[in-house]
Parts: sequence; structure tokens; C-alpha cells
Amino acid sequence: MPAHFIHETDFREFLKSLIASKPVIGPVVEPKSTGDKFIFDDVTSAEQLRLDYDVSLVPPKAVFFPPVQKLLEFGPNGVKSCINPREQVLLGVHFYDVKAFDQLDKLFNDKFPDNNYLANRRATTVIASSVQTVSKHAFWGSFGKDVKAKGHDGFLTKVQGGYVYETFSQKGEALLKHGKFGNASTDQVSAAKRENDAAMDKCQEKVTFTPAEISTKTRASFSNNEMWKELSKDCFSCGSCNIVCPTCYCFDVQDKWGLDQVSGERYRTWDACLTEDFAKVSLGGAGGHENFREAGAQRFRHRAMRKLTYLNEKLGGPACIGCGRCTSACVPNIANPVKIINRIMKG
Ligand code: SF4
Ligand code: SF4
Repeated sequence: MPAHFIHETDFREFLKSLIASKPVIGPVVEPKSTGDKFIFDDVTSAEQLRLDYDVSLVPPKAVFFPPVQKLLEFGPNGVKSCINPREQVLLGVHFYDVKAFDQLDKLFNDKFPDNNYLANRRATTVIASSVQTVSKHAFWGSFGKDVKAKGHDGFLTKVQGGYVYETFSQKGEALLKHGKFGNASTDQVSAAKRENDAAMDKCQEKVTFTPAEISTKTRASFSNNEMWKELSKDCFSCGSCNIVCPTCYCFDVQDKWGLDQVSGERYRTWDACLTEDFAKVSLGGAGGHENFREAGAQRFRHRAMRKLTYLNEKLGGPACIGCGRCTSACVPNIANPVKIINRIMKG
């Protein structure tokens, strides 16, 4: 697909026209922050959009897989699906979060396609944008860097004087009519490539082992109980590292019954494998239960296994895209995958 160019001075008009045509979700300042924290939210004016954000607090997967999602309504007349996707544009997603979308696409398409996720995904045009500010805990420049971002419809790169816009689908091409785009010159395309390559070297955190080396060693460390205890001793099982993770996809399903005890609604909510009750299942008679990951160290190990080895084959790379959100979210400062990897590799 060709590359296009839009001047900085025309970019605001492009955004205005796009916002007027359909809902646009993008990075904006988190309203309770002092201007340095960002979320993905509906963008109502061009001025709100902050393509210079570092990382969003909550990953943009929430657009397709909301923290609370109504799945269906049931009653005496049967069951009604609540799938109701909105045609929209998700603009300004960094490449590492696009990689996370690709992982979720695979997982939610595996064996039994999850239409509650897929309908939202299909209705959304995803436009990625270059990383202008690197978050201090990011390590995507060194970890899983050979896995390419895919599944997005376009990519905007900020260069001198404007933006280079590469399109990868008809949905991406369809946005061109909203702005004064021309063909990008060879120099502009080269400048965009330089910009994106340079960003890879700007992460302060670095992983010095290959994903294959890490995968092998992590699996071999399963029985190193002392190490898992040491790594997890300050964990208070809050689940924040799961909740902020763009590649975590576990959910819990619950029914909310009406007073008539016949009708009700079914919801799913994000779940977190670090929390104490995650692996608790009912067993036998009244009140009987079993928790097959009762100890914090078992849950901590499980997260490391999932991110670093169990899913690698299915996903074509580690189930961690190096965003560093878990590092920021963990109060006792023990969730940083770079530190965990280094400890595992030490043996
Ligand atoms: S494990 Fe941490 S760094 Fe890796 S994708 Fe999840 S939140 Fe990002
Ligand atoms: S590792 Fe940190 S963020 Fe994760 S559950 Fe434990 S204390 Fe919470």
C-alpha cells in the first residue's frame, strides 16, 4: 500500500473532519492527572488528541474487550445477544499495543471464536502512530523486537513538517478523504523509517537475552521454589499487574438475576491470575472448595510462565510486548518483567 503525507498545518483539519464523521477514540490526558498521565477515550476535539503521549494507563484493548461487558439478556422468551458494535476509529495506538491486539486476535479466534470481542474489533479502524515519547519503564526496544506489529489499518509517523501516513487496508485508505494528503516522497518515507528505528533505541530498560533463551530457562525454573518465593515475597495479590496488561485476556462471567428469578443479564469482567481467588474452584458438597494456586509464589510463577514461555509457540513470540505498565502499577515494585527475567536467567 502507498505512503501519503500531510502537512502539520493541515493535520488539525483532517482530525476535525474525521471526528465529525464518526466516533474517534485516541490518547487524551487523564482528567484527574496533572497532565502527564494518559488514557484512551472518545476524542471530541482535535486539540484533545495527544499523539505525544508516552503510554496509556489502561491498554487500548479495552476498546474491544471492555473491563465490564454485557454479553446477553435472558428471560421467559429466550436469550438475546448484546453484541452491538460501534463503527469507530481508534487512532494513535503505539506499535507495541498493536502487537498485543494481534495476540488477542489469535487468542479470541482460537477454537471457539469470541464474537463479543471480534465484533468490536472488526467495526474499528485501527490507526497506529509513532512513539514520540518513550515511557520510562518500556523495554519493547529489546524484547520481542523481531515480532512485527500487524492487524492495523494505517500508521502515522511524525516527521519534520507533518506526518507520513502508510495504509494497510481499505479501511485505512478510506480516511484519506478527510485530509489534504499527497503522495509521500522517498525522503519522507526514509525519514519515517529513521524515526521509528530510532525509537527502538530509546528505551531505558533493556533485556539482553533472546525470547527463546528466556523461554527455555523459565520453563526449567518451574521447580525453583526458593526463587519464586523470593521474587514474590512482597506481593499482596492485588492483580494490578494483570489489569493494566495489554496481553492479559482472562475474564470472569456472572449472571445478574432479576427479582422475578426468570430474567436477567450475563456479564463478563476482567479477571486477574495474581488474585487469591482466581484459581479457587468449588469441590464436592456445600462450601467445599479447592484453590490450586493458593500460595502467592505459585500465582507469581504462573504469570511469569504465561508471559515468557507457555504461549510463545501459539503467539509467535512472548506474551509480553514490553510496555512496562505492570512495572508502573506495582506498588511494591516487584512486577517488572526485566527484573524477573534477569533473576530467572541467573538461576
Ligand atoms: S507483562 Fe507488563 S510489560 Fe509485559 S505486556 Fe504485560 S503489562 Fe506490558
Ligand atoms: S506483583 Fe505487584 S501488581 Fe502484581 S499482584 Fe503482586 S503486588 Fe500487585
